[in-house]
Amino acid sequence: MIITTSTAGRCPTCGAATVSVDDAEPWCAGCEWNLDAYDRQRRAPEFGWAWVDRWSHRLGYRLTRRQFTHLAGRPLGTGGRSAAAMVTAGVSVLLIGAVLALAVTGVWLIVAFPFPNVAVLLGVALLGLAVALRPRFGRLDPELEVLSADRAPELFALVDEVAAAIGTPRPQVIGVNGDLNAYATAVGLRRRRVLCLGLPWWGALSPPERVALLGHELGHFGNGDPRRMVLTQPAFTMLGSAADLVRPVDTVAGGGIIEMIGEALGKAFQWMLSRLLFGVHLVLVAVALRDSQRAEYLADEMSARVAGIDAATSLLDTALGHESVALAVRREMRAGHGPGRWRSAVAESRAAAGGRLSLLRQLSVREESSLFSSHPPSGLRRRMLAERPRHDPLVVLTEERAARIDAELAKEYEQIRRAVAWSG
Ligand SMILES: [Zn+2]
Ligand SMILES: [Zn+2]
Repeated sequence: MIITTSTAGRCPTCGAATVSVDDAEPWCAGCEWNLDAYDRQRRAPEFGWAWVDRWSHRLGYRLTRRQFTHLAGRPLGTGGRSAAAMVTAGVSVLLIGAVLALAVTGVWLIVAFPFPNVAVLLGVALLGLAVALRPRFGRLDPELEVLSADRAPELFALVDEVAAAIGTPRPQVIGVNGDLNAYATAVGLRRRRVLCLGLPWWGALSPPERVALLGHELGHFGNGDPRRMVLTQPAFTMLGSAADLVRPVDTVAGGGIIEMIGEALGKAFQWMLSRLLFGVHLVLVAVALRDSQRAEYLADEMSARVAGIDAATSLLDTALGHESVALAVRREMRAGHGPGRWRSAVAESRAAAGGRLSLLRQLSVREESSLFSSHPPSGLRRRMLAERPRHDPLVVLTEERAARIDAELAKEYEQIRRAVAWSG
């Protein structure tokens, strides 16, 4: 990536020279003129029609900035309930009610009439529909390598310490996988709390960043995050499954012209119904994700509270350089090295980024703003923390203790290292 500070371009608002990273549309680093530009070359299409994509980007950008301003002005630790949260919960209740009504009507049609009767068929169909549309609450990822407290006592103790420090419940399942990522989620109707640490990511972070990561992820168990709450699941999933259900599928043709016309009409109707349901699904997801972005800011706050602002912002910067982290870790894995070397490689690539970093943060506000993103742009998340009052970290992870945790996970690290070294 190359910084081009183009002298040809001048900001029409403040007169400063515009900046650009790589081949991005130039913007003004001072007043952020043109930061909201829709950069078609660098953006994956969301809908596939240029004008709709441009419109959805503008709307996503505007809503994201507005939410930032709103949350940045509030006192620390208060997230409030947003209108988006209320809509999401309300729609979920309606959807659950509709599925229940389908099921009840189905059962009634089956039992209400003497047996050989068309009503029975309709009843079975409705019941089947209710089952297909039932709310889904997720389950444990089968790829997750679940750890036990005797296998990794030091890691479990650290997780407990962080949970106690920020006052959130501890996870009931802790596991690892081979992703360059980490997540906290809740599965099943009883919402079992799961913490997953992707080992390439965990291994690449410095000890303070690891505490920040735990603070962020565990923070999700305590901040009313809609993506993890049982009441809001239907809003995220049900209409999507309904759209899938009515999407026309190709059947084997083998009839006369009348049948073909009938089939074509049926398909057209199904297609329209499917698009309509999917459209409503998208609107609902976009609304629900507003509240999910709010939850991310709150989780960042937990992260800063337990690990300190420097560690929390450093974690966000590392995440911003996700691609170069991936390259560095993979290179070291292939060379047969463990997490110690991944970390120094990541630190080196971070140092090499130098002054580019602040431009990348700013650019992320353009490139990561979306109606369909569960996370706010890294640049705004970082800005939100940087404006908060500073304080000492509540939990400090020493190099020695971090090394002991890595030693506990040596077997899992090695498995993942081999899997990556052998792939492609
Ligand atoms: Zn300017
Ligand atoms: Zn998060």
